[in-house]
Order: sequence, then C-alpha cells, then structure tokens
Amino acid sequence: MQSFTPPRRVLMGPGPSDVSPRVLAALARPTIGHLDPAFQGLMEDIKAALQRLMNAPDHACIPLPAPGTAGMEAAIMNLLEPGDRAVIAVNGAFGGRMADMAGRAGAVVETVEDAWGQPVDPAKVEAALAKGPAKVLAFVHAETSTGARSDAAALCGLARKYGALSIVDCVTSLGGVPVDAAAWDADVIYSGTQKCLSAPPGLSPIALSKRAQAAIAGRKEKVRNWLCDFNLLMSYWGGEGGRTYHHTAPINALYGLHESLVVLFEEGQQAAFVRHARVHESLAAGLEAAGLEMLVAPAHRLPQLNTVKVPEGIDEAAVRAHVLARWDLEIGAGLGPLKGQVWRIGLMGASASPWHVRLCLTALADALTAQGRKVDAPAMLAAAEAKLAG
Ligand SMILES: *Cc1c(COP(=O)(O)O)cnc(C)c1O
Repeated sequence: MQSFTPPRRVLMGPGPSDVSPRVLAALARPTIGHLDPAFQGLMEDIKAALQRLMNAPDHACIPLPAPGTAGMEAAIMNLLEPGDRAVIAVNGAFGGRMADMAGRAGAVVETVEDAWGQPVDPAKVEAALAKGPAKVLAFVHAETSTGARSDAAALCGLARKYGALSIVDCVTSLGGVPVDAAAWDADVIYSGTQKCLSAPPGLSPIALSKRAQAAIAGRKEKVRNWLCDFNLLMSYWGGEGGRTYHHTAPINALYGLHESLVVLFEEGQQAAFVRHARVHESLAAGLEAAGLEMLVAPAHRLPQLNTVKVPEGIDEAAVRAHVLARWDLEIGAGLGPLKGQVWRIGLMGASASPWHVRLCLTALADALTAQGRKVDAPAMLAAAEAKLAG
C-alpha cells in the first residue's frame, strides 16, 4: 500500500466546494479526547456559533456526526411517528429523498409536486395543509438538483398557520444566502459542511425549536434510529458538565467546522452573501455571452448553484470530462429528469470567487470549442468582468 495523494482539483460542482488551506490546517491539529475539558469548550463554541450562523438563539443547535443526509434523517425520524401525516414539497431530488424517508418512518406522506427548476408553490402547499391536520411540513430551501430557491419564510408561515412543524433543508443555502430560523419561526433546520461552509463533508449542523424538542420529548414510541435520537444526542451535546458518552464525536472534523465558522464570521455573513451574489451575476453574464441558457428564472436562482442547459449537439458528459482532464475543474451533472440536460456549476463558499468564474468560463469555452461550437471566450470573460466591476 502507498499513501494516497489526491490530484489537485478546483471544485465547482454541487459540493464539496474548495476547502481553504486554513481549514485543512485545522483538521491536521492533534487529536484529543472527546471528553477532554478543552474539547468540551470547543463543543460549546460550535453550538454558539451555529446559533449565530442560523440566527437561532432559542433553538438547540448541534453538528450531527455524518453528512447532510443525516440531518434530513434526524429531522424526519425524530418528528414523525407511524401514522402521522406529513406534507412534503418535492421540486427536485432532495425533496424526493425526504418523502422516501418520511414513508420509511411510517408516516402518511402527501407530496406536493412542482416541476424541477421551479420553486415550491406556497398555494399548493396551503391546499395540502388545509385538507387536514399534518404533523410536519418539509421542504428544501435551496434545491441543489435544480438551482431553485423557495420562499422559506412563506412556507414556514404556512406550517405555523396550520399547526404543523416545519422541516427546512438548508444544506446548500447555509452560508450562501440568508438562513434565519428566528424570522422564519422554523422548527427544524439542517445543513451540511461541504457546500457554502467550505469544510470537508461529514457533519450536519441541525437546529431544533422548543416546539420541536417538546414534540420529540412527547413521542409515543422511541425514535427508531439510535444515533439520530435527539434525546440521546442532547445528553452528550446538551449540558455543560453533565455530558455522558453517546458516540465519539468526529474530533478533527469538528476542528475543521470550527475554523470554517471563524473564517465566515471574519468576513461577515452579509459580505459573504454579497460575494456569492456578485460572482453568480458574473458567471451568468459570461455564460449568456456564449449563448448558453440558465434553467431557473432569475427571480428564483440560487447564486451558489447555477444550472446551465446543455446546447443542442453538445455531449454533456464529454464537456465535464474535458474540463476535469485539461483544467482540473470539477462541475456537476444533472440528476433525475435533468440527467444529460444540464450542468450544475457551484459557486459555494471558498469556490465563490472571481478567479473561479474566470477559470470556469475559460474551461467551458475550451471544451465547447473542442466539440466544434463557436464561442467567443474573450467576450464571455468581458461580460463577466463587467458584472464584477459594476
Ligand atoms: C448535498 C445535499 C444534501 C445531502 O447532503 P450530503 O452531505 O450529501 O448527505 C441534502 N439536501 C440538499 C439540498 C443538498 O444539497
């Protein structure tokens, strides 16, 4: 066996995003025990930082020891019991995953479908909630499979109006666009570390409201998956002092998350949102200068996930293979009904920079030219620069 040396890559897919040298250095610090008083201080620091990050001062916030899907699983499995009615909005791959999980929890699932590329329609959600009491309304804030953003404030408001608990998937939104648990009055928000937080994958920050915690404490039966049982998790993460062993926290991964949060607060969350928006406008202008079209209408576009339609006569997979081989650049493919139809270009966290936009446009122009399409690379770059300057 030999040591593994990964190739040098620039990550502009749907996640993971580039991890900064600062965060990588934090990951390499010495491992200490997870019950060491110094480590407990780090745990408290991370809980407070997550409350600040999600504007969730009254929520319990902890990072789960597994990727974003674990946050989804924890939210669904803790809130739903067999026979509960769950309304789940599905406008892409991740909404579909939530519906599958809710079915596995034994819930009576009613999906509210919208086309891939469209935001969730609050009117349809309201109609489903008005039909009868639901325990949960779940939806994806930033649908990474399509690049569409839904109106989390309106949807959480509907959950409150009809007495349902809201579950909001913020895996891709957190750090790139505002996520505001208090303003939305959201019950459960979960995220992941490898999208706009630019830490490696493997952790899932989650926030639970007092209402959600009371619902979990009052369950008729135990949560069926032990690792995600919120009551057990809080015996480990909850108390200062009274901490008991539940699992061994991924210690070095938490150093990385901690450092990524230090980096984000140093920049300022507002500044980070503005940066994501600017580089997105720049990328979109550059793509449009080459005659490429975005899937999502401007009003609903996520700055951090740009879905670009593959033009007639272009081999979608060959373009991705070309930019990876020649430019060490990773971009994403379409999922489900969008397979072969789109590319997904991430501008997440450390990958949301003017340099990334220039590299991506240059690499795409090269790949399209290699397939015989006439593209004017200087014009693409000029259109992108004009947005950065403006
Ligand atoms: C990436 C993603 C997930 C899943 O996260 P993993 O870390 O891959 O488990 C869930 N929801 C959305 C919207 C995502 O973008």
